[in-house]
Amino acid sequence: MTPAELLQRLIRFDTTNPPGNEEECIAFVRGVLEDAGCEPELYAKDPARPNLVARVPGKGKSPPLLIQGHVDVVTTSGQDWQRPPFGGDLVDGEVWGRGAIDMKGPMAMYISAFVRAARGELEPPGDLILVVLADEENGGDFGAKFLVNVVPSRIDLELDGRLLPGFTPDDLIAEVRELIGDYIEFELVRHDSGPSDPDYTHFDMLGDVLRELDPEGIPMPLLQGGVTDARFFSQLGIQTYGFMPMRLADDFPVLRLVHAADERIPVAALAFGTEAVCRVLQRF
Ligand SMILES: [Zn+2]
Repeated sequence: MTPAELLQRLIRFDTTNPPGNEEECIAFVRGVLEDAGCEPELYAKDPARPNLVARVPGKGKSPPLLIQGHVDVVTTSGQDWQRPPFGGDLVDGEVWGRGAIDMKGPMAMYISAFVRAARGELEPPGDLILVVLADEENGGDFGAKFLVNVVPSRIDLELDGRLLPGFTPDDLIAEVRELIGDYIEFELVRHDSGPSDPDYTHFDMLGDVLRELDPEGIPMPLLQGGVTDARFFSQLGIQTYGFMPMRLADDFPVLRLVHAADERIPVAALAFGTEAVCRVLQRF
């Protein structure tokens, strides 16, 4: 199965979250991994919403590399799509569908590369741990938050804010209070702190891989405005890099397509990304 075919299959599972219903999608991934000789484990807070963990042993020269991502997607309701969002259509070299970029496309890259490692076609210096998560798009309570066994804080959001590094919830509340006034009471119901200091150990290696495959490319760090499961893994001291390599035409509206209608990814970008991930899996 090519990465593009794998992505088509992943898109066809409607894992709109809520409610998620990731079970069938995760079962499919499990089958793909078992065919490659892996013995994946499932961990579920709710049986309809399992998370998958698989491991490929490395050569013991590096610490393990965690490759994690999610298979739930955000809603398509109210959006006007030119193609069925769960059709996984391949049209003019692009795979269309909800999740093509966020993030079943990257998952297709990761799983394809992981399968190559499981089959002995790659030589990872350390163990590879693949984690396929549920519930990234709606808080992570059934996904990463459950899986890393972190003591849960409560969520009951009236206001959902994003903090820049170095800012605290108090800063946010003070700013909102200034705008709204004192007559409203604020209660902090949830705060998952991010990493205090980023660890860029692997940045140069990731940049090297990108430059090899795209000599005109200029690797640079990016501050993303969205929230991801990385905040949970950071509580275990694990640095997330958000490495989802795609070489795209200048006019391909990648950022506009995330969480939006007509989300899709070029097959060539999937192949590019899979090759990049394969190289990374041998160098960390
Ligand atoms: Zn998302």
